[in-house]
Amino acid sequence: MSERDFWGGRSTIVRRVLRAFPVADTIAFFREIGVPLHEEAGGKLFPDTNRARDVLAALLREAAAAGVTLVAGCRVTDIARLQPPLDVARGGPEPAEGPDATERARFRIATSRGELRANAVVLATGGQSLPKSGSDGAGFALAASLGHTIVPTTPALDALRLDPSDPLHRALPGVSQDVELAVRIDGAIAIRLTGALLWTHFGASGPVAMNASRHWLRAQIEQRPASITVSFCPGRQFDEIDARWTRRAAERPRQSVQTTLAAMVPAAVAAALLEALAIDNRIALAHLSRDARRRLTRALVEWPLPVIGTRGYQYAEATAGGVALTEINPATMESRLCPGLYLVGEMLDVDGRIGGFNFQWAWSSGFVAGRALGKSLA
Ligand SMILES: Cc1cc2nc3c(=O)[nH]c(=O)nc-3n(C[C@H](O)[C@H](O)[C@H](O)COP(=O)(O)OP(=O)(O)OC[C@H]3O[C@@H](n4cnc5c(N)ncnc54)[C@H](O)[C@@H]3O)c2cc1C
Repeated sequence: MSERDFWGGRSTIVRRVLRAFPVADTIAFFREIGVPLHEEAGGKLFPDTNRARDVLAALLREAAAAGVTLVAGCRVTDIARLQPPLDVARGGPEPAEGPDATERARFRIATSRGELRANAVVLATGGQSLPKSGSDGAGFALAASLGHTIVPTTPALDALRLDPSDPLHRALPGVSQDVELAVRIDGAIAIRLTGALLWTHFGASGPVAMNASRHWLRAQIEQRPASITVSFCPGRQFDEIDARWTRRAAERPRQSVQTTLAAMVPAAVAAALLEALAIDNRIALAHLSRDARRRLTRALVEWPLPVIGTRGYQYAEATAGGVALTEINPATMESRLCPGLYLVGEMLDVDGRIGGFNFQWAWSSGFVAGRALGKSLA
């Protein structure tokens, strides 16, 4: 886990926050609260019981033990900054608690269940992904009303919708394969991503397509031309694959193009590719024309994905964009614009690639804010 696993603003800030509460601390924290973790393929961590509700139960137990009052089913609708009393504004001591503290509070918080006053507020309202979970972007308006800049948001970790005329996804729903995607922006390759791609009835999903989605969407909001191509032979170039066909044709001239191709990609993909290219799948390698061979090779290393969009916030697992990181002090997660306001988690302009990185960002930034608040209270 490092800042290289994240996209969005200012990698130095991301690095600093991650280092304050790295993965080892996350594992130790969960073990301490009764949720031992184990590692699965690709370095992903899961609770030993494999039950999400055990994570929730442990966090609730721990919050109760720490004396936290939880108010559920309650939306914050507005946060107003109150004028600090002159002595506090000049750096004088702040009252810790009691009626005096409430009177001198820095914030008035309007909620669906009445008004609160507080000296400090932590905004942890998430992004816009899966709005039915409550993370519907309302927190961005709260942060903006307190002076923060919101870097335009887009879904991230979302599946790609492909033009219905694309022959591959229609022929291959449910088929998964390892590929390399090249995302081109302004005609140049902006990023290459490798991993599993899952063909679906609407387009392309799976980790690699989901990672690519934010790059394509960011280009759209910046009005820059973007395109995505698939290589079914990750890490290999056109010339290498073309030479392989020629070699194979010399070694096994009577082998069919379908059989040869099925040794390189799943059989269903081989059949769909040949059909899309209008190449007879029974043709022997010796009879495969130079033109057909080169078209096939080109398709194997650079198959264009006709992306028409993504599935949107209702399906996306994360949100790109958010509160500008430069407006946050990474040592405390406190706002540089609004003293007493802390911002953490997905509402910030950081989004991680698929694989647990967004959770870690939430844990790390939450820890940094919690530690700073603890110190300020002490
Ligand atoms: C389907 C799905 C699968 C995911 N899988 C993974 C994964 O495997 N690994 C990974 O790392 N990440 C995953 N993520 C992303 C991860 O869940 C988020 O990055 C992480 O939960 C962000 O934490 P957060 O505390 O910042 O915000 P959230 O977890 O979104 O929590 C924000 C909370 O604030 C509340 N809220 C919002 N506005 C208000 C308001 N105005 N008043 C009161 N409350 C409010 C919301 O109801 C919500 O409870 C997934 C996300 C989704 C949607």
